[in-house]
Amino acid sequence: MSKIYIIDVTNRDGVQTAKLGLSKLEKTLINIYLNEMGVFQSEFGFPTTRHESLYLQANLELAKMGVLKPIHLAGWVRAIADDVTKTFDMVPDIKHLNLSISTSDQMITGKFRGKKTKDDIIEMMVEAVDTAKARGAETIGVNAEDASRTDQDFLVRFAIAAREHGADRFRYCDTLGYDNPFSIYEAVKSLAESTGIPIELHCHGDLGMAVANSLAGAKGAMEGGQDAYINTTVNGIGERCGNADLVAVVLAITKSKRFADKYQLGQPIDLSKAWKTAKFTSYAFDVPIPINQPGVGPNAFAHASGIHADGVLKDPENYELYNFEELGRGDPDLVETGREICTGQYSGISGFRHVMGQLEGKAAVTFASAEEAYRVLELVRYANVESHKPLVEDELIFIARYPEIAKKLLTMRPLDYQD
Ligand SMILES: [Zn+2]
Repeated sequence: MSKIYIIDVTNRDGVQTAKLGLSKLEKTLINIYLNEMGVFQSEFGFPTTRHESLYLQANLELAKMGVLKPIHLAGWVRAIADDVTKTFDMVPDIKHLNLSISTSDQMITGKFRGKKTKDDIIEMMVEAVDTAKARGAETIGVNAEDASRTDQDFLVRFAIAAREHGADRFRYCDTLGYDNPFSIYEAVKSLAESTGIPIELHCHGDLGMAVANSLAGAKGAMEGGQDAYINTTVNGIGERCGNADLVAVVLAITKSKRFADKYQLGQPIDLSKAWKTAKFTSYAFDVPIPINQPGVGPNAFAHASGIHADGVLKDPENYELYNFEELGRGDPDLVETGREICTGQYSGISGFRHVMGQLEGKAAVTFASAEEAYRVLELVRYANVESHKPLVEDELIFIARYPEIAKKLLTMRPLDYQD
């Protein structure tokens, strides 16, 4: 029986969104939360982009240390052999890749300006896959950008060539959010049947259907005999109108009518971490969670009208499909309204020890010596320089626990800088 797996792309599609960005420490925390939730893979960044190098290496070290385990950390790379070579030169320990190339006539003509034929596209992709295999990639996904506007016969040829060269998955990208649940179901079912390769659904929300399309596409893949991998982002943050929201996708798979009984996640998702993950990501991006966001929106469990309030008090199931506790909600949101000592780039040791002291009970953070405390404070200052906002508890605890990793995350070496 085929299953559904979640591949989250917040740290790739999310961060490449116009006007938004994340610090490397924030990206790392998101990988940690995704791992705690049971997400199969995090597309954690761009291995050929220089300022990502140390962050990617540091996260691969966390994987080796067992902190980021069992989640797969996958890099997004253009399906060009030279880029794959550069990837392994810059981030030698990387194990998982998604290789991307445009496949639609619109993009082949509009982007490559007549310099590439469809055969050239397949050849480039295959060379990239071969190079990744030769350099030791453990898993490879091949992405067809603009798949929803690509001629189906060409997609079949493309996916079969990818599979024959050892790719593990084919990513069907509805890059412009052009599909609807009916069209994507048909396209993906027929692709699954005729190519024999597991299929990723990468859906965007330009027509408001990213979550619905992801489910319909997954159904198509599974009915075509293949596993489905849904691409999500936390809070649906992504290019233009966004991607399929992680929490909404998981709720839809596990709670929606006649889907939950029939189709299953290959790896259980712990939704009790959903609230923490969504809140932190909202803070890190500085984008509020919409009031009506499924599961984690401020109004998701709010009832005001007489009939609804009365009904939900008698039995929550009268007006709620799922419980707030399942999503990790329920604790009051405490906001300091009196004196507040924050950690920032100009913090001193006394304020810092005060803040860390408050965390001591919760996280067992202790400093062996004054020097150690100063060292961690210095890293906290740098983290604040990068993020421009007070660090949250989990960030402070992370730095105190893994100062060497934090140092890497905070180090940038522009161009030809030499030590
Ligand atoms: Zn995208």
